[in-house]
Amino acid sequence: MMDTLKKTFALKGIAVSPGVAIGKAYLFDRLDAQISFYKLSDPSLVIKEIKRFRTALKESEEQLEEIKKKLSHLKVKEPLYIIDVHIMILRDRRFIRHTIRYIREMGVNAEWALRMTIDKYREIFDRFEDEYLKGRFSDIRYAGQMVLRNLGGERNPVISDIGEGVIIISSDLSPADTARMKIENVLGFATDIGGKTSHTAIVARSLEIPAVVGLESITRCVRTNDSIVIDGSAGMVVVNPDPEMIRRYKDKKRHYAEAKAISLKDAALPAVTRDGHHVLIGGNIEFTEEIPSAVTHGADGIGLYRTEFIYINRENMPTEEDHFIHYKRVAETEKLAWSTIRTFDLGGDKYLSDPKLAKEMNPQMGLRAIRFCLKEVELFKIQLRAMIRASAFGKIRILFPMISGVEEIREAKKILCEVKNDLRKEGVHYHDHIEIGAMIEVPSAVIIADKLAREVDFFSIGTNDLIQYALAIDRVNEQVTYLYEPLHPAVLRLIRNIVKIGHRAGIRVAMCGEMAGDPTYTMILLGLELDELSMNPLAIPRVKKIIRGSTMKEAKTLLKKVMTFSSALEIRECVERAMRERFPEEFQMNGQGELKQRDVNASR
Ligand code: PEP
Ligand code: MG
Repeated sequence: MMDTLKKTFALKGIAVSPGVAIGKAYLFDRLDAQISFYKLSDPSLVIKEIKRFRTALKESEEQLEEIKKKLSHLKVKEPLYIIDVHIMILRDRRFIRHTIRYIREMGVNAEWALRMTIDKYREIFDRFEDEYLKGRFSDIRYAGQMVLRNLGGERNPVISDIGEGVIIISSDLSPADTARMKIENVLGFATDIGGKTSHTAIVARSLEIPAVVGLESITRCVRTNDSIVIDGSAGMVVVNPDPEMIRRYKDKKRHYAEAKAISLKDAALPAVTRDGHHVLIGGNIEFTEEIPSAVTHGADGIGLYRTEFIYINRENMPTEEDHFIHYKRVAETEKLAWSTIRTFDLGGDKYLSDPKLAKEMNPQMGLRAIRFCLKEVELFKIQLRAMIRASAFGKIRILFPMISGVEEIREAKKILCEVKNDLRKEGVHYHDHIEIGAMIEVPSAVIIADKLAREVDFFSIGTNDLIQYALAIDRVNEQVTYLYEPLHPAVLRLIRNIVKIGHRAGIRVAMCGEMAGDPTYTMILLGLELDELSMNPLAIPRVKKIIRGSTMKEAKTLLKKVMTFSSALEIRECVERAMRERFPEEFQMNGQGELKQRDVNASR
C-alpha cells in the first residue's frame, strides 16, 4: 500500500543489457566508505606509511585473486579479464611510485596520497577523445578504491543480506563487486555512471541480467526496498511504478522472453495473409527510447504512444517544449509510417501518486483520461499544441482516450480547433489534416459507435479497459483475474460490432489493447477484420508470423464457428485447439494440455 503512495518517476540512462526486471531496490554503494585524510605528524612516520600502503596493495591483490578463483566457472571470460586489469594496476610501477612520492614529499597519509594519484590519472583519461579509452579510468578508480578500503582495515563483506529478487543500485559495479553478491538473488543492475563498455555492462551481459547505466543520480533518488522496474532494452528505470505499470512491464518481460526465441529475420516483412489481406502493425510505446525497438521488431508505425510519463516524471507540469521534443522525435522517425499519440490518460489507477489528483472511491470510473483533459483544459491545450506542431515533421495521429459519448469528442475537437487557430495566428507551420481517433474502451462508445464514427477518422479499440468495463472486472485486481477473458462472447461481439460500424462509416479500426499482441488471438482478430493491430514491440514478430502463415478464409471460418458458442470456455478451447493444430511450433502445451498463452492471460 505504501508503494502506491510513493511518487512514481522514471530515469533515463543507457541500455546496456536487454530484458526487463521488476523487484525491490538494494542500494549498494562502495563509494560510501569513510576515508580519513591527514598530514603525517612526524617525518619518521613516512616509512611506516609506505609500508601500510604496500600491505594494502598486497591484500587487495590477494582478494582479487580469490574473487577470480570464484568466478573461474563462468563461461564468459570478460569479467576475469577485467579483474586481471585491476591486478595489473595494483602492480603498476608508476601507480605505486606516484603514491609513494606523495607520501614522502608531501607528508600525507597513504589514503590522501592514493587519492591524489587517482585524481592525476583522472585528468589524463579525461583528455582522451576516444570514449572507450576515457571509460577505462573506471578500472583505476576501482583498483584504487579497493586499496583505500583495505587501508581503512575494511574487509570486502560478502553481501549475503541482499534479499531475494533485488535490483542492485550503485554508482558503478565491477566484476569483483558482483562476485561478492549472491548473484542468483540479483534481478538487475542500475548505476549512476558507465557506458556500453563499462564493467556493469560487461558483467550484466555475461550474466544475462538486465542493466541500465549512466543514470547519473539513481543512487541519490532510490532507497533500499523501493519498488523498481528496469527496462534494459529501452534504457529506462521506473521507480515506484503503480500497479498498472507493473502489469504492463510483466507483459513486456514475457514478450521479451518469447522474442528472444524468435528470429528478427522476417520482422520487417509486411503482415499479409497467404490470400493477400494486409494488416498494418503498430508498436505501443511509453517512452521515445522504445522507438528503435519498435522499428527493429517490425512496426509499420506507432499505434499507441502513451504520453502519461511525460507528466509523472517531474515536480512541475511539463511545458509545451517538453512535450514537443518527444512528439517531434517520434514524428520524424523515417521508418515509421505514422505515429498515434494519445492525449494523456491520467487518473484512474494510473499515477495515483500525483498529489494533484484527489483520491477517488472508484478511480477506474472516475476523473480520468478525456474527462480529466476536458476539466483541465489549459493542460490539455499545452499537449495539443505540441502534437500539432510535431505534425510538421511526420504523420501524427491524435487519439482521445476513454470516450464514452459524442459530447466528449466534440468538445475535444473544439479545443483542438482553437489550438490550431492560435498556432495559425502565431504563424506556426503544421500539417493541414491531422487524423483524429477515438479510443473505444467504454461499452457505451460501442453502442453509439455509428454516431462517433461521424466525428473521427479512425477508431482504436482499447481491450484492456473495454474488457474491464464490459465484464465488470477490475484490471489490476488479482482476485478477479480469472474472470478477465478476452475470448468472452460479449467481448467478441463488441469488437465485431465496432469493426462493422467503423467500416460501414468508411473509417479504419485499429486495436491497441494487450489482446492485439497475443498470438493466440491473432487468427480471431484477422477474422474480425481489424485494419491495424498495435502491440508491445517485442510481440510483433510472432503476431506477424501467424498472420503471414494464415489465410483470411480460414480465419473467417474459425470466427464463424466460435461465434456460435455461448460460453467463453467453449470459445477458448476451440481457439486454442485450432491454433495448436495450425501452428504447432508456435504454441507449446503446458502440463494441463493448455496453451502457454492461456497461463499468461490468467496471470494478468
Ligand atoms: C486499453 O485500455 O486497452 C489501452 C490500450 O489503454 P491503457 O492500457 O493505457 O488504458
Ligand atoms: Mg485504456
